[in-house]
Formats: sequence, structure tokens, C-alpha cells
Amino acid sequence: MNSLMVFTRDLRVDDNPALCAAANAGTMSCLFVVDDKFAGAPGASQRRQTFLLQSLSDLDQSLRKLGAHLEVVYGDWSQQVQQRALELGASNIHLSEDYSFYAKRRLANLKSWCCDNNISLHAHPGITAVPPNSVSPAGGGEYKVFTPYWRSWLKTSKRPVLSAPASITATAAPSSSSHLAPDPFPNSSLIGGESEGYKRLQHWLKNALGFYAETRDYPATDETSHLSPYLHFGCISPLRLVEQASQLPGSEPFIRQVVWRDFYAQILNMHPTASRHDYRDRGDVWQYDPAAYESWVEGNTGFPLVDAGMRQLKAVGFMHNRVRMVTASFLVKDLHQDWRRGADYFMSQLLDGDVASNYLNWQWVAGTGTDSNPHRILNPTTQAQRFDGEGKYIQKWIPELSDLTPSQVIDPPYELREKTGYPLPIVDHHKQVEMFKQRRLAANQDSKVAN
Ligand SMILES: Cc1cc2nc3c(=O)[nH]c(=O)nc-3n(C[C@H](O)[C@H](O)[C@H](O)COP(=O)(O)OP(=O)(O)OC[C@H]3O[C@@H](n4cnc5c(N)ncnc54)[C@H](O)[C@@H]3O)c2cc1C
Repeated sequence: MNSLMVFTRDLRVDDNPALCAAANAGTMSCLFVVDDKFAGAPGASQRRQTFLLQSLSDLDQSLRKLGAHLEVVYGDWSQQVQQRALELGASNIHLSEDYSFYAKRRLANLKSWCCDNNISLHAHPGITAVPPNSVSPAGGGEYKVFTPYWRSWLKTSKRPVLSAPASITATAAPSSSSHLAPDPFPNSSLIGGESEGYKRLQHWLKNALGFYAETRDYPATDETSHLSPYLHFGCISPLRLVEQASQLPGSEPFIRQVVWRDFYAQILNMHPTASRHDYRDRGDVWQYDPAAYESWVEGNTGFPLVDAGMRQLKAVGFMHNRVRMVTASFLVKDLHQDWRRGADYFMSQLLDGDVASNYLNWQWVAGTGTDSNPHRILNPTTQAQRFDGEGKYIQKWIPELSDLTPSQVIDPPYELREKTGYPLPIVDHHKQVEMFKQRRLAANQDSKVAN
């Protein structure tokens, strides 16, 4: 029996239920389609593309050790999968189930094509630690608030973590040509692939996990795991990560963060359009101010923590979680701009750009998402005082402020801004958030009247 294993966001041989099922079923081939809907599309991230190609190359090497190889083709995903299945005379197709609108539509189309062609399609877990449908509240639907989800997630029984198949009986002889030699994108320090991902995971668990609770909020020391791109592409298994971390003391705060990833996946699973539509409609009427938006993108707002974050994002495709919250909050609650604009920009830059985590975190910050306090305001100056008190993170990304003292750097006085060329604040934070609150209040009153 011939099977086709279609890799998607599960670029690993370890703990890959789809790969194990295909390998156990008989002879098989492995395919990855570089989908032309994403590769090279406007807004696509060159960094993620490079990371993807590195991951595919690493996966190909791992598969060759098991007796198979990875075929990588470019084009329309559905057409390519169907064509390869017919060429192989495949009776089964295996893949990992994904939850975005696009992934769901793609799977539904493939399902109906498989039905017409008498091919069995098997969608497996593996993209999240716990599949979205395994944790649901008593009344059905999705969990809307994190803490009850977390409690229920802890109690849910998990599938066994799987080793890589011992060997694979491949349908075709491994080709020796390697068509996967990407030019590394110059500004990313992380190399894609399962080998790199697990190396990083082991090193981080051994050396940093124990301090995570105390260090995780401080961007200057930057001691979080940086595993997000490996999780996004499935180079490491989220369930393997949880299994390994949970054997170590003090791992709960870290696992809790990883579970946020599952939490957002279960929301996207129920509301696949949540990347475009308010999860909770607050009646917001967004402003469109290209000059203010441009200042935000370029890190020239005159608010040092916001500008440091935006400059880091552009330079290396990463931003610390605390700073992501502050920069996102600034765009929405100080500049009154639509969260979708900010989220799309993040998506174009982030190495870990992920539909569920990015758009639903943006909605959390905007107050249209799952935050139980939708009126939360993050003051960029007090956030800098609390989380970058010595201004080291700010000075790293805003070199013109590097000679200032810690107390000056958080909110430089007028004459030092003039001297260093660092801009004045483009808005008055307190006035802007007051205006934002008034607008929301008015929108809510209007909607009550309309109801
Ligand atoms: C506005 C905004 C946009 C974001 N966009 C993304 C995105 O596109 N992709 C992405 O992976 N994360 C996103 N996050 C979540 C978080 O900022 C990153 O996962 C984290 O900074 C990655 O660094 P790390 O791997 O060192 O995290 P660690 O602190 O080491 O956490 C371990 C893992 O837990 C998961 N995680 C941690 N925090 C969150 C969170 N708040 N939501 C979901 N998962 C989380 C990630 O998979 C992360 O790799 C966003 C957060 C905000 C506020």
C-alpha cells in the first residue's frame, strides 16, 4: 500500500503522528509543497522563507537516515498534492491538521478530491501539544478565557509522545540532488530545522528554565527560550517540549506560556476568521494616519521602549513578548489605528509569525480579544521603568541614546532629544488614551441604543 506523507507545519521526524502512521502503513513518499500563495507573496516574510528552507533541508537529511527523502515542489498546494498522489498511485494521504482559515479550506478541498478518487485522507494531531477539540468547556465551543482553559488543559489526558520511525520503506530511491540551499537572510541568528531546534531546547532547559519566572519579563537580558519559530514550523514537537520541561523543577510558568499557544489555536479552530474580524466587537472606529503609522513602523515615535522594540523587529525579526505588548498597545490605544494593520506588519517581519498567536495576541492587546480586562492600558514610559529600568534594552536598539544615564533614557528631556536627534513624542499619551476610552464608551452606548 502506497502512502503519501504531506509535511506542513510539522517539519520533524520526532513525535510526528502523521509520519509514524504513514511509515507503519507500508511504502511511502514524503512531500512538501512550497505554496505559491505564501512564498514571494506581498507581505510574506523573507526571514520565514529562509528559515523554512533551512528546516526542509534538515528534514530531508533526517529522512534520508531513515531510508526516505523529502521531495520539495513549488506551486499551488492542492494541485501539487493531488498530482503527486496520482503519480504514486497512493491509497492514503497523511498530514497534520492545522487550524487557520486557509489550512481548513485546503484540507476540505483535498478531502473532497480524495473522496472522488478513492484515496483515504488522514489528518493527525501534532501541531499543538493538545488538539483544539480535546479541551472544551462543558457547554461546548471554545474556552474564551485562558485560566479555565489552562486548568482543563492540565487535566486532559495527552497522547503518547512518539519516537521517530525506526526506518521508512520509501516508494522511490532517494534523489541525491539537493535543491534546498537557501541564502541565509543576513539578520537572523536562528537557523531553521529540527536539529537546531532540539539543540536549542536542550540547552535552554538545562541552563535557563529554572530562572524563567524571574527573567521572562525583562527584554534587556533576553533570557526567554526563542523557541517560537521552531514551534511555528513544527521543528520541535510542542508535546515533546512539555514532556521534557515538566520533568524539571520550576517548569510551570514556562509550560503555561506554551499553553497560550494551544489556547489561541483552539480559538482559531472555532473562529478561523479571527485573524481578520474582532473576536469581541467593541464598535471601534479606527483612525488612519499614515504619518503616525510610519513613525511607529520606523521606531520614531519618541517613546523609547516602543521605538526600541520596533527597531529590533525590523533589524532581526524578533521582539520580546513584553515589548510586543507595549508596541501593539501603543499603535491601538495611543495612535487609534486598527489592530489588523499592526498585526499584518508584525506578520511581515516576525520570524515566528503565526496566524493564531499573532492575530489573537493583537486582539488581546486591542481589547477585542480574550483579555478579561479589555480596557487595559500599557503606558510605554512606566512599562520601561518597570521592565527596562536601566534602559539597557532601549540603548541597544536606539544607539543615539547610548550616552544618556538610566534615568534620562526612559524619557529623555527635551534638550537631550534635540542634542541627540531623537524625536519628541508624537502624541500625548494621557490625552490619547483618554480619547480612546471616550470613543469606546460612545461606541458602546451607540450600540446599546441600536439594540
Ligand atoms: C502583539 C503580539 C504578537 C505576537 N505574535 C506572535 C507570533 O506571531 N508568533 C508567536 O509564536 N508568538 C507571538 N506572540 C507571543 C510571544 O510574544 C512570543 O511567542 C514570544 O515572545 C516568543 O519568544 P520565546 O520563544 O522566547 O518565548 P518564551 O517566553 O520562551 O515562551 C515559550 C513559548 O511559549 C509560546 N508563547 C509564549 N507567550 C505566548 C503568547 N503570549 N501567546 C502564544 N504563545 C506564547 C511560544 O510558542 C513561545 O515560543 C505575540 C505576542 C504579542 C503580544
